[in-house]
Amino acid sequence: MSRRQALKGLGTTVATLVVAPSIAAETKNVSEGNNPVLENPLDKYPKPPYPKQKQPHPGLASKMDPLPDHGEKTYKGSGRLLGRKALITGGDSGIGRAAAIAYAREGADVAINYLPAEEEDAKEVVALIKEAGRKAVAIPGDITDKDFCVTLIEKTVSELGGLDLLVNNAGYQKSNLSILDIHDDTFDATIKTNIYAPFWITKAALPHLPAGASIIATTSVQAYDPSENLFDYAQTKAANVAYVKSLAKQLGPKGIRVNGVAPGPVWTALQVCGGQEQDKLENFGGDSPLQRAGQPAELASIFVQLADNGASFSTGQIYGAAGGGGHP
Ligand code: NAD
Ligand code: MG
Repeated sequence: MSRRQALKGLGTTVATLVVAPSIAAETKNVSEGNNPVLENPLDKYPKPPYPKQKQPHPGLASKMDPLPDHGEKTYKGSGRLLGRKALITGGDSGIGRAAAIAYAREGADVAINYLPAEEEDAKEVVALIKEAGRKAVAIPGDITDKDFCVTLIEKTVSELGGLDLLVNNAGYQKSNLSILDIHDDTFDATIKTNIYAPFWITKAALPHLPAGASIIATTSVQAYDPSENLFDYAQTKAANVAYVKSLAKQLGPKGIRVNGVAPGPVWTALQVCGGQEQDKLENFGGDSPLQRAGQPAELASIFVQLADNGASFSTGQIYGAAGGGGHP
């Protein structure tokens, strides 16, 4: 075979390698030789209809059907957050747990906060952080209590020897079809958990945050496209967007970045313990272009990206993950 013929043949092979995966990916995941593994987001996870289910607040991820994926078996780190010191509120389950697993596997020591009733979920997360070879600190307590928020930061700083990554992720969501059904105590719990707590926690944390630190808030697609049954919750998530945009301006000159993540429908305990109507739960995420609910694991890399030094010019931004809906 002449050199020209050999190169021509090679060209065909390369073209086949490049084209083949994208064709095959239309129907299934592809893993061949040294080719990257392509995952089709449409059939990567369970689709609606989901089984109806109800748990008392705050709910446990371990009792959900199907079990959510927080990246326990899949998230692979590559040292992106080596030596970082993180606090994640609501780190026991859902989106916060996915961030906790990813942070630990990227090399961060991680403190998690959660409600005492969630100890069972929290224990699993602590074990996963330790398995990753990092320090895990569990600090149960109610963040609607201002004094506890101050204690939370004091304990985190003393146990981790500092703090440079604060994730205000805990949230309360209670579905009500009419404003007339929203009692003051529910309204209060929503505002206290979703607005006051990040305010108190951030104030207590700020004196400890060095230049290069990162603050991340979990907001929601509800901030931009509020559902009729989440009147109070949606307002708090819009407030979380304003928290990010304002604080980023205030803290930019100190070298501290502030960003937010805006999830769409994600399969977590929040939704099965009063956060959603049962008929909406059955078809959760079914109307999105990806035709299903997201899984917490699918948001982990966004939390890592926003925390990473590599995102040093990103502040005041909201990163969306809503299966094709949402605004930011
Ligand atoms: P989740 O129930 O797994 O996590 C919420 C956590 O908040 C709980 O685990 C709990 O530890 C914590 N929490 C609630 N009240 C608290 C209190 N008073 N004191 C201390 N901790 C408290 O559900 P999730 O969906 O992972 O929620 C995480 C964040 O994501 C929330 O801010 C929520 O608003 C937001 N979010 C969720 C979705 C979704 O579809 N699941 C969509 C958009 C935004
Ligand atoms: Mg929980």
